[in-house]
Amino acid sequence: MADKLFCSFCRKTDKEVPSLIAGPGVHICGDCVKTCTAILDGLPADGFAGWEKLEEDKLLANLPRSQAAHEAARTVLQQQIDELRKRETSWAKIGEALGISRQAAWERFG
Ligand SMILES: [Zn+2]
Repeated sequence: MADKLFCSFCRKTDKEVPSLIAGPGVHICGDCVKTCTAILDGLPADGFAGWEKLEEDKLLANLPRSQAAHEAARTVLQQQIDELRKRETSWAKIGEALGISRQAAWERFG
């Protein structure tokens, strides 16, 4: 079972970090905020570790979190489209924004 809450940047769970800040379908921990602040200030920062640096067991352990992040992003996309449809935005405009046809947009999100 995937952990419910985790940092979208470093994948640590809410049990592993003191706090998580929530965005629409994403979360970020205090350590990653510090890294972002350093990058924005032009200070030396390690950035975020790539997948190639994780051992197999850690990478496998991350799969459910990545799947949860994928599902959360899909939910955010659907919520945005639902809001546009409430505003009577056409499927043609939504499809155009997504680079797909009106019909494809309706089939995927209608
Ligand atoms: Zn983090």
